Amino acid sequence: MDIISRAEWGARAPRSRSSVGWSQRTEFIVHYSEGPTDQSVRSIQDFHMDGNGWSDVGYNFLVDISGRVYEGRGWLVVGAHAPDHNTSGIGVCMIGRNGDSTAAAKRSIRWLYDEAARRTGRNLTRLGHRDVYATSCPGDELYAWVRAGMPADIEEDDMPDYVSVGMDTPQDLPPNKWVTVTWGKEYSDQKHHHWNQGGSSFIVGPARYAFTANVQIDGLAPGTELQARAIEHAESGGDYDGGPISEYVASAGSTFVHYNVAADTVGDGYRVRFQVIHYGSETGRITAGSAKAFAWPT
Ligand SMILES: [Zn+2]
Repeated sequence: MDIISRAEWGARAPRSRSSVGWSQRTEFIVHYSEGPTDQSVRSIQDFHMDGNGWSDVGYNFLVDISGRVYEGRGWLVVGAHAPDHNTSGIGVCMIGRNGDSTAAAKRSIRWLYDEAARRTGRNLTRLGHRDVYATSCPGDELYAWVRAGMPADIEEDDMPDYVSVGMDTPQDLPPNKWVTVTWGKEYSDQKHHHWNQGGSSFIVGPARYAFTANVQIDGLAPGTELQARAIEHAESGGDYDGGPISEYVASAGSTFVHYNVAADTVGDGYRVRFQVIHYGSETGRITAGSAKAFAWPT
């Protein structure tokens, strides 16, 4: 892919610039311009320099809805796009408003990400501007794509995302308390549904999904009543929707809970988790488990 250079789009010279090394680049931050899709990069630069009084256009790169990539400040110049994250973060702006982004624009943003990862030699944290600052930027639609891991093959929408995770640490199961199972192992998760932060959610909304979860529970008296459920947990705070509950009875020795959701929908800003509870008197233990999911982002 070609990057349209500053000379090619008629950039003004920056008033000043300060450099940053690749080792300091740890984040990749996506923005939108919140203006018309045909706005020129030069006019954005004029606004940033003359309106905001900045030394140059704020972003490191800009992408239009046709997928053209424009050099802003470039890879290794400190930007002006996200306070406290201008040294750590490479800022890329989609020229347009919420809902304007296209498969071509997303592919170009992803290409810039892959290029940055290649040059740093490691993955960068993929963020929307709103992850680090109180703003609606980069708009709900583009943000959902960022949170889904910035999938490059976005036109293959019919193929579900496949997630396969497992437990790596046993968890206590005290009586009468819903316990959220934590998935410390990740076998398959190309589209980043199983988030590194937390580890218990394994499907990111908005999506349709299906999953099965299997856990082994020990330490319960035979006959103890158990339940399992999916919950859709809000990313912001403790709000959640409880899904269908299945019931089980502890057997002698280990009890195996097999839980299945054939089809459900999780909304924007929510993530699916899996929980179990028992109504005995002793504290049991979830000793092993795994979950496999299909998700169709909506
Ligand atoms: Zn922004």
